[in-house]
Formats: sequence, structure tokens, C-alpha cells
Amino acid sequence: MRPVRVNRVPEMADQGSMVRKADGLFLFPGFCDVHVHFREPGFSYKETMVTGSRAAARGGYTAVCAMPNLDPVPDSAEHLAAEEALIRGGDVAADVYPYAALTVGEKGKEAAALEELAPRVIAFSDDGKGVQSESMMRSLMERCRKLGKIIAAHCEDETLLHGGYIHDGAWAKAHGHRGICSESEWGPIARDLRLARETGCAYHVCHISCKESVDLIRQAKKDGVDVTCETAPHYLLLDENDLQEDGRFRMNPPLRSREDREALVEGLLDGTIDMIATDHAPHSAEEKARGLSGSAFGVVGLECAFPVLYTGLVLSGILPLERLVCLMAIAPRQRFGIPVRPEDTCAWDLEAAYPIDPAEFLSKGKATPFAGRTVYGRCVRTVRAGKITYEADASRRPE
Ligand SMILES: [Zn+2]
Repeated sequence: MRPVRVNRVPEMADQGSMVRKADGLFLFPGFCDVHVHFREPGFSYKETMVTGSRAAARGGYTAVCAMPNLDPVPDSAEHLAAEEALIRGGDVAADVYPYAALTVGEKGKEAAALEELAPRVIAFSDDGKGVQSESMMRSLMERCRKLGKIIAAHCEDETLLHGGYIHDGAWAKAHGHRGICSESEWGPIARDLRLARETGCAYHVCHISCKESVDLIRQAKKDGVDVTCETAPHYLLLDENDLQEDGRFRMNPPLRSREDREALVEGLLDGTIDMIATDHAPHSAEEKARGLSGSAFGVVGLECAFPVLYTGLVLSGILPLERLVCLMAIAPRQRFGIPVRPEDTCAWDLEAAYPIDPAEFLSKGKATPFAGRTVYGRCVRTVRAGKITYEADASRRPE
């Protein structure tokens, strides 16, 4: 039997060093988000490397991993070069690590140029779409295992969607909306966990949203599968009961039931869920103005992730502050092999209380289900590699 790998949130022997107080502020390691959409090349009207990375810095992030649903899709060295040029282009306020696609055009039919892409990318993903074919996924896993690369999977069975756009639960039924069932997520996860076990591929599940996914991953970890997973702040803090007839509540996967949300929090506490990512997915105002049934899928998250989680999980006594910092800064780096540098920090005023106002976001995307919510914690300064990448308006800074 293969040894069980370390895929829990690591024990924090040095927890004390993660949270330091200076000048009345809390100093944390720079956050790291393994799941963002910076939309370039191809969709600069939604976000750019510059606006996305500035939003990241404003949220305390110093490193992000950018998903490959772009135009061109980074499925070959040549296509990836277009994205690399934008990352190097200057004025980018965070370390941006690109993902490459698993399949050509993320179409699931033909494998991408995995071998030539591997040395230049953080990991592989077809995020935005699930790999539908089991034989294709098996072959991708075999190749990624040889390359020593993680597959970060967007798990979604397209045969179970039926045009749904919110959770197929009580709220959808009561309000006459088409639902997405949980099995469309956990079905592919169950398949992939079996394949990961058989192939030995390092496997990471993106944005888990339902209780069955937590149970499957918990069991797979016990069985020694090399699996980690992420969830996003909205799945931990909101559920279908919070839905409004507004595009800023539409994301994929959708907000699920209260039971699902509680299972995710439990998974976070017992180490089944390894890290928190935002799935920062900006769209234009017009694309998000068509209500629940017609808006684009996706919400922004970088600029409010820490405040909503600190307020909702730490101040409410559910999660220790050190653990939240680990889930947002250390655990993602450890899994994806991104260095933890002492020169990357973010300083927070944890007593500042304010309502989340998307008009203040540096991201081009303004749609968030947390708009108007009063939170604690304001990022005062972010430093990457010793240089300031974000500094709050001095007039607002505490004495
Ligand atoms: Zn996704």
C-alpha cells in the first residue's frame, strides 16, 4: 500500500509566527489563491492581469493561480506564451501562476500539449468545464502523474445539468427556477477519486459545494488517495436561503442547502477541506444584470474573502484566526509548491467595521453576494517581495 501523503491542513507547530501584531495591526503571510480568473488573454473587458492582480493585493493576496478558460486557451506552448507575456508585462501586483488546460480548447476531446506545458505552469485544469470522458481523464491522470503535476478538477457532469443555474432544492422549487443537482458535482468526484487511486495522480478538487463531495473526499483521504480540495467563501457562509433574484447570486457550482453549507464547515474543521480559494470570476455589469436565470456564472471574491471569513467564521467562534490564515496563505502554497516567503505579508486592521461596497473594488467585476454585508477587517497594506503592492487610503488607517 502506498504511504498516506500529507494532505491535511498541516499542524501548525509554528502558529505563533503566522500572526504577529505590530502598530495595532495584524501581520499575516501574504495570501495565496489557487483559483482565480484574470480573463486575459481574450476577455479584457471583464478583467485584466493588472486589475485582477490589484484586486488581489487589496485583498491581502501576494500569489494567485490563474485558470485557463481564456482565448487562446493555454493548451500549447505557443498559446501559453500569450498569457505569459501579459503576466510579465509590468504593473502586475501579485505573483500570477498560470494553469494550462488539460484538453485542447477545454473541449475534452484531445489532450493538450501536457509535456511541453508542464515546466511552465503551476498545474493542469479545464476549469469552467468538467472532463466528461472517463477514459480521457484516466489518460490525463497517467500523464500528469509522470510529469509530477497536479490535476485541479472542475467536476461537473453535463448530462445532469438540464439547463439549471441554481441549486436544485427547496428555494428553486418555491421560486420556479431550474436547479442543478448535487450529483452533477459528486458523481464526477467519485469517478475521479477512483481514477486518482488507480493512477497515483495528485488530484485537487476545485470549489466543492455539497455534503456528498465532503464525504467522498474525507473517505478517499483515509484510503490514502493523493487528494486535496478547496471551497470558496460563499459556500461556507451562504446557502440557498440567502438567494435573491439578482445575478450576483449566480455562480457555478451554486449555493446549496443549509445542510451542505454545514457539512462544508465541518469539512473545513476536520481537515477534509484543505484550503479556501475565491474562484474570483469577474464579468461585466451587463453580463451580471440579467437576474438569476440569465446572468453569466461567477462572482468576484478577492477583495472581500478575508473580511467575510474573519467575520463569519472567526469572530463567531467557529475557526481560530491562525487556522483561517493557514487555509488562505500556507496550505495552498504547500500543496501547489509555491514558496512561502517572509517578504510577502499583509497587514490588517481587524477592528475596522464597514459594509462591503463593490464600488470600491479595484477589480472590474463588481458582482458579489456579500455586497452590503457589514464585515470586520480592512487590509491596510500588502507587501510582495518586500515591495508595497497595496496601501489603503491613509486617512482611513488607524492611528
Ligand atoms: Zn470551476
